[in-house]
Amino acid sequence: MRIHAFHHLYQQRLERSTKPFNARGSKVARCQYCQVAQQDCLCQHQPTASTEVAVLLLLSENEVFKPSNTGRLILDTVADGHAYQWSRTEPEVAMLELLNSPDYQPILVFPEQYVEDHSRLVANTTTSSDLARKPLLVFLDGSWREARRMFNKSPYLSQLPVLSISPQRVSQYMMRRSDNEQHLATAEVAALVFKQLGHEQLHQTLTMWFEVFRESYLNSKTRNRRDDTKPALNEYIMSRNEKSL
Ligand SMILES: [Zn+2]
Repeated sequence: MRIHAFHHLYQQRLERSTKPFNARGSKVARCQYCQVAQQDCLCQHQPTASTEVAVLLLLSENEVFKPSNTGRLILDTVADGHAYQWSRTEPEVAMLELLNSPDYQPILVFPEQYVEDHSRLVANTTTSSDLARKPLLVFLDGSWREARRMFNKSPYLSQLPVLSISPQRVSQYMMRRSDNEQHLATAEVAALVFKQLGHEQLHQTLTMWFEVFRESYLNSKTRNRRDDTKPALNEYIMSRNEKSL
């Protein structure tokens, strides 16, 4: 299994925290990497990471500790992945350097109706091959309320071009979910972004990987009846074997 930036951030936060963060579902004994119940650990199935795009996850306060977080799944599929704790006033220097790196074209993913300056919007026909540099896709990972706060209160993001995916569909989707459930959407939004930018294989991998996670995550909920047949995992394994990924 490939340990990536999300796992490193999780460990850093764990070492620094003085009291345990009691996320929903924290009573379940979980794998600390994939965050499903230990008997359902998915780490051996982690996808082969793509090098086509780079991803920067900006995480709200305690997002990294939430077992239901799916931003982590994005970094499972992308080799060039970065994860930072969001801060309004003290953004990490390494993150700022990344955003300013000449190697990348940073693009912030957010619903367009919240973007005041429409000149920031990237045309929805744009694909990665239209860009002069490798796209660095920035995702604001937290509840919808937190994501809006990050969007509005981060001077270092305020000049970035914004990519909005099927605005009606995704923004309705994001807002429909409660604050407790919204973070289930981050990986789904990323999968749509990958598709729009022309990375069909990566889109498929992340879509399937998200379903695999959701299936095992729901199995770990005590009030759910387990489904040990794991159809999403089986489909994923079959698909990988076919493509020899
Ligand atoms: Zn695991």
